[in-house]
Amino acid sequence: MKSEAVASLLEDMYASPTPYHAAHRAADLLDGASFRQCAADQALPSEPGAYYVRHGGMLIAWLLDASHSGFTIVGAHTDSPNLRIKPRPVKTSAGFVQLGVETYGGVLLNSWLDRDLGIAGRVALGGEGNLEQRLLRIDEAILRVPQLAIHLDREITPNGLKLNPQRHMVPIWGLADSDADSADQEPDGDEFRQMLADVLDVDTERILGYDLMAYDLQEPSFVGRDRTMVASARIDNLVSTFCGVHAMVAMANSGDVGRRCPVLVLYDHEEVGSESATGASGAALAAMVERIAYARGEDRSTFLASLNQSIAISADGAHATHPNYADRHDQEHLIALNAGVVVKRNANVRYATDASSEAFAVAVAQEAGQPLQFYSHRNDLPCGSTIGPMLSARLAISTVDLGAPQLAMHSIRETAGASDIAALASLLEAAWHSSLAVSEVS
Ligand code: ZN
Repeated sequence: MKSEAVASLLEDMYASPTPYHAAHRAADLLDGASFRQCAADQALPSEPGAYYVRHGGMLIAWLLDASHSGFTIVGAHTDSPNLRIKPRPVKTSAGFVQLGVETYGGVLLNSWLDRDLGIAGRVALGGEGNLEQRLLRIDEAILRVPQLAIHLDREITPNGLKLNPQRHMVPIWGLADSDADSADQEPDGDEFRQMLADVLDVDTERILGYDLMAYDLQEPSFVGRDRTMVASARIDNLVSTFCGVHAMVAMANSGDVGRRCPVLVLYDHEEVGSESATGASGAALAAMVERIAYARGEDRSTFLASLNQSIAISADGAHATHPNYADRHDQEHLIALNAGVVVKRNANVRYATDASSEAFAVAVAQEAGQPLQFYSHRNDLPCGSTIGPMLSARLAISTVDLGAPQLAMHSIRETAGASDIAALASLLEAAWHSSLAVSEVS
């Protein structure tokens, strides 16, 4: 992957302010590479080819071939921490109209202050006999969360910024209309739905539900003296998401279908624990790989046996060592930007990597001529987790947790290394090409 390819991946990320947009963008890229979308409620095709299914913010893509035995699964997630619009959001305070929001995942709240925020997501519409969903993106700075002036916050210098997510993160949507007769004003909530209806060009009554969230309008950029780093919203984890999609397209175009069935799974809801119909703790992937096995003519016993020859890669962001906080890292596991993909180990299985899956990643990287870095968290800080342990547990498949290193994870604008992104995409493709057997101690 060259720097133009990294730039195009950043465009994919910018086109994906929400998990629904990310799955939609991934589908567009797969459509462009002649993948066929399958209806999840129909039998899967049995002829060799490239396919995907999409459900909300989740997407599963695979290459089908009768020669396959087992699966090489790459997983990532489409969601990122953010502020989500409440069901009855409109409120007024001190002459401002505001929208109530709920924090989603582990938001670095301070990073959302004083930014130009748009609104995006999906809206469910009623109609004649059926319900439909539409994507929505209001790409204008209609929301803003101003920080309190330093002169009104005497505690900030000695004690640092303290933010209460209920009281201090409510975005301003506009100024209250002081001329309007209050009796003429729409009831609480209707103004917001009216705006959605106008954008979608439908009657307000048709709006029956929504999943909407604020997002940063600023485009991704190449940063640093040599522009070798990238800054963007949602690096965690749209970098892995679109590295996976680009690698899957390259795999399909290579003409090699691999020894095991290549599968890409993009989950939603990782940032909130993955316990959902479209999350890594759900049944969707297990059901789909079983159906793929049947589509290629296997019975259930053969399918279950094939899981023992399968391998999974859980691709998610890793923590680069912050130059101003280098002591927060285990000193033997310092992680640099643009020094390679990071394999993550945790003895308490916050990461799924074990000796067997680690060996697979190391061998694939060696074959591809790529350096790897190795991460282990400090014992005196709680370690984050990701989809790897859940994916591994649901399918009983040996799984390696790895990813591109980044700074400022869960900030509205994160920083990563451009060449690490390229390295991740080529490592994922190399894993799908690899015919290395995954063996247990005999
Ligand atoms: Zn993540």
